[in-house]
Amino acid sequence: MKKRKSYLKVTRKQRKNERPEIKNFAETIGVKSDNKFIADVHLGKLAKGLRMAGFDVFYQTDCTNNELKTIAVQQNRVLLSRNAAFAKEAVIKTFILQSEDWFVQLQQVVEKFELRERFEPFTRCLACNGVLQSVSKEEIEPQLEENTRNYYNEFWQCCNCKRIYWKGSHYERMKKLISELKRSTEEK
Ligand SMILES: [Zn+2]
Repeated sequence: MKKRKSYLKVTRKQRKNERPEIKNFAETIGVKSDNKFIADVHLGKLAKGLRMAGFDVFYQTDCTNNELKTIAVQQNRVLLSRNAAFAKEAVIKTFILQSEDWFVQLQQVVEKFELRERFEPFTRCLACNGVLQSVSKEEIEPQLEENTRNYYNEFWQCCNCKRIYWKGSHYERMKKLISELKRSTEEK
């Protein structure tokens, strides 16, 4: 199956526009986070795993440490990182991960923030963190590969990057991972 790369791309210009200034740090100190996250550039798999479970995770591969901190404060996100230096920053909420294993990291975040009962799988775009909305087959039919068109009738689309999702083999793998995550965090 051909990948639709164009849907995944967020242009550099768009990214630049999303980058807030650093000056507003102090204004938002102390606001309670509703479990929105920002993952540093090394935690791509963790970010994807959390999005899979339906959580709001800002993640971009080209963020500097300063940009991470700024976005964490301005958007009231908990910064996920393996870099303990972030924990010294009084203005940001951080969760420093010890493990290098992304699935262990995922388990730790779920436990720490008590996310287990709040999973909403298949609601968020894995590529860009946008919200997925149900879309009629007619609407997106011209964009589908023949196999997908023949075998699937239910579709979702990212409201941000327009990427299309359906319950194919990828969905089954995701479902397995989510139930494994639920099971393993319950046992602990
Ligand atoms: Zn998207």
